[in-house]
Amino acid sequence: MSEVEHIVAEPGDVPGDENPVSKRVLAIFPHPDDAEFSCGGTMARWAREGNEVTLCLVTDGASGSDDPAMTPALLAETREREQREAARILGISDVLFLRKRDGTIEHTMELRRELTRVMRRVRPDILICGDPSVFWHGNEYINHPDHRATADAVLAAAFPSSGNRLYFPELLVEGLEPWKIKDIYVASPAVADTWVDITSTIGLKIDALKAHASQMGDWDPTETIQEWARGDGEKHDPPVEFAEDFRHFTTSG
Ligand SMILES: [Zn+2]
Repeated sequence: MSEVEHIVAEPGDVPGDENPVSKRVLAIFPHPDDAEFSCGGTMARWAREGNEVTLCLVTDGASGSDDPAMTPALLAETREREQREAARILGISDVLFLRKRDGTIEHTMELRRELTRVMRRVRPDILICGDPSVFWHGNEYINHPDHRATADAVLAAAFPSSGNRLYFPELLVEGLEPWKIKDIYVASPAVADTWVDITSTIGLKIDALKAHASQMGDWDPTETIQEWARGDGEKHDPPVEFAEDFRHFTTSG
């Protein structure tokens, strides 16, 4: 048996419930639909509970098609529209598009600076991102390099860049003061220690995924999403019908 700490996000652990003042949540992922797949139910639940959820997408999603008639410009436009609709379904307050070319993401200092700028502007209490250590899931899925590079840059921007005054002093010139992020939820992690009950919002998660019509095609994600969430729900203590898994960091900043 592993000795993984079994923290469970019960209502009392959910931001907003523990504190009458709503919290700011910032989720950063590379592609339109990434956040919905890995933490759509959690974002919807936290938004419904009165927290302000902002989603930031690093790429334009312009490589996500095998249709010979599709152009990158048209696809980028389509995916931005689909993402806005998915965000509306989930109750997300704001969507930020950094519009970097899909498939080209590297963890550069320029990207780290840009993400630090987003964090200092949004000033989130809670950050959600991917897991940079995930190279594959099982024997069927090699993790997209944009996913790893983005997650790596996001975590580096969160700590130490966002909260440290002497990192990127040019941001101070822009009026962006340091901002320490205390809570980080790494979604779809290699090793999970936290499960958020999404039984009340899994329908919204599935509807939001369906809004990404250019990616879903004829595929109905309902069964797959329910199967994943049921597996995570069994790990929740006590078990719940549907959950999403995370690795939760509470940093000292
Ligand atoms: Zn992706």
